[in-house]
Amino acid sequence: MTLKEKIQNNIQLTLDEALELYNWDLIELGQLASSIREEKFQRKTYYNINRHINPTNICKDVCQFCAYSASRKNPNQYTMTHDEILQTVEQSVQNGIKEVHIVSAHNPNTGLEWYLEIFQKIKEKHPQLHVKAMTAAEIHFLSEEYNKTYDEIIDMMVEYGVDSMPGGGAEIFDEKIRKKVCGGKVSSEQWLQIHKLWHKRGKKSNATMLFGHIESREHRIDHMIRLRDLQNETNGFNAFIPLVYQKENNFLKVTDFPTAQEILKTFAISRIILQNIPNLKAYWVTSTVKLALLAQEFGANDLDGTIEKESINSAAGAKSANGMQQNEFVELIKNSGFDPVERDSLYNEF
Ligand code: SF4
Repeated sequence: MTLKEKIQNNIQLTLDEALELYNWDLIELGQLASSIREEKFQRKTYYNINRHINPTNICKDVCQFCAYSASRKNPNQYTMTHDEILQTVEQSVQNGIKEVHIVSAHNPNTGLEWYLEIFQKIKEKHPQLHVKAMTAAEIHFLSEEYNKTYDEIIDMMVEYGVDSMPGGGAEIFDEKIRKKVCGGKVSSEQWLQIHKLWHKRGKKSNATMLFGHIESREHRIDHMIRLRDLQNETNGFNAFIPLVYQKENNFLKVTDFPTAQEILKTFAISRIILQNIPNLKAYWVTSTVKLALLAQEFGANDLDGTIEKESINSAAGAKSANGMQQNEFVELIKNSGFDPVERDSLYNEF
């Protein structure tokens, strides 16, 4: 059976087979990824109306790619109070958001309650709002800092109203590269273990991959295969989100950045390898809006959301600080030949 036939029959590829796909012609790869996308979603492209909140930038970890945490390059520390977070949520609810996405740095000074009780407070005021919060990296940090097991932290998240987990902190799973880019924070094995525990409770999460820095193509494929294997076991991932590395204001010395062609190939290969994860998200914040729109022709069926405000990637150079208006988002998708469909956080259509 040829590689193409294997893909068309949804036979899971080996690392070497998947790696070979990078040598294929871009358009051929795009057509194959598109046919998988169209079989599942036709021309629909999902988006949601959401708000990102990053309540603190004080972090005990020092990831080399990070421009967000307070450091020598970004000395402006902040930590929001619960009242400030609630006010932000209130304003965004009035603007029509359906999801609040809360991700923090690893601040050792706030106490466990500051991290977790905010979810309960949000839910008390806005029970209809979907709370997506706490990366596996945050869960690992809280577990170490407060001497709790992952299960204990996850049980508290459920009790306090977290509905789903974002996919952050995965970066790149290869242990050698991981040590260089984010040594000291959650390991690959721990990241996967935490998501597995979350999925065991019948809950959904997403998975990211940070690429375009010092990793190789092989490391990307290895990352995808580790996710594919866990998804075979739990079926708990809703979306895979390849994040393009942002180069400004950080400590990682990267000289070769991926071309648009390399980024689009990575999207297409993600769609082909991760056929068991339903949604492939082109997160416009890191890929640029133009490339995210193009990624729809390379397997992506989701462009994330309006966001309103974005702090993490905009600190590293992304043009996302003020989010995007819904009508602008919808028009862009339509003008690129796809059908915009608003979804909720669990991919139900409105
Ligand atoms: S990526 Fe997250 S964990 Fe790493 S330094 Fe930045 S805020 Fe801290």
